Amino acid sequence: MQPDTFDYVVVGAGAAGCVLASRLTERADTRVLLLEAGGSDRRSEVRIPAAFTKLFKTACDWNYETVPQPALAGRRLYWPRGRMLGGSTSLNAQMYVPGHPADYDAWAAAGAKGWSHAEVRPYFRRAESAGTLSIELPRDPNPTTRAFVEAARACGLPAVTGRNDGGREGVGLTSVTQRRGRRWSAADAYLRPALRRRNL
Ligand SMILES: Cc1cc2nc3c(=O)[nH]c(=O)nc-3n(C[C@H](O)[C@H](O)[C@H](O)COP(=O)(O)OP(=O)(O)OC[C@H]3O[C@@H](n4cnc5c(N)ncnc54)[C@H](O)[C@@H]3O)c2cc1C
Repeated sequence: MQPDTFDYVVVGAGAAGCVLASRLTERADTRVLLLEAGGSDRRSEVRIPAAFTKLFKTACDWNYETVPQPALAGRRLYWPRGRMLGGSTSLNAQMYVPGHPADYDAWAAAGAKGWSHAEVRPYFRRAESAGTLSIELPRDPNPTTRAFVEAARACGLPAVTGRNDGGREGVGLTSVTQRRGRRWSAADAYLRPALRRRNL
């Protein structure tokens, strides 16, 4: 086998790329090249959950703009996307909220075979239970966030806390992809454990 010959070339080390590179290299005889346009994610603004907006319009951001929006008087909107290891999972807001069951079921009804909620749910469960993803409740929510949740509950809205993959209506804190209060990106969850493999 040539050292520069690969079975798969994965372009982009974001959410999808990190998972793919990790899964594909579980087989020791499969050689994978993972290409990332951006650089390192070793920055405090990546680790500190509330600091991600400091990464906007830096070298860690593709700094996109939308086309002019007719419904916004022709304005273009700033559209951040991560450009570093972890991709946008290194600068996103870390909220872990599986889609509403009705959305998946609507996709399946529209012809997306295998995408009903009952069919995708085991994959969420697998990702959540493999010990790679880290999902927590926010450690230190803003006091106004807590006050909002309490006020909504006092008005009679049901309590829904955490990942809420049943799509129940209610109010509560959402889960976040963090570990011990720090961001836990796709690079942390999937890429770093796989990097020790010689076939990646
Ligand atoms: C500001 C912000 C907040 C968000 N908040 C949340 C949230 O709270 N909860 C949530 O679930 N989702 C959130 N998201 C969305 C979530 O992060 C994305 O849906 C997810 O990361 C998309 O995964 P991806 O693999 O498609 O792309 P990305 O994770 O963006 O990865 C793409 C990677 O490909 C690289 N790349 C692109 N072109 C090339 C090239 N030509 N060659 C090599 N590499 C290339 C990029 O640099 C990047 O690293 C947020 C996104 C943003 C931008």
